[in-house]
Amino acid sequence: MPFFDFKCEKCGHQFTVRVSNEEKSKVKCEKCGHPRVIQLLSPFFSPGSKTASSTRAFPGPNCEGCSGAGMG
Ligand SMILES: [Zn+2]
Repeated sequence: MPFFDFKCEKCGHQFTVRVSNEEKSKVKCEKCGHPRVIQLLSPFFSPGSKTASSTRAFPGPNCEGCSGAGMG
């Protein structure tokens, strides 16, 4: 069986486990037992993909200078 490197999402503990490919999803942190672990197998490992959501606030349609031109 191959070795896989994992990193715990909770405590950040990195460890290597020898598991089959189908049991990789069952791997838990060997330190704290947290079920969410990140697999570190690729050299180009990216630590999560964050979706940047930008909210733009558009100004309201208030045109104060357009109306109210009463001279007299
Ligand atoms: Zn942990």
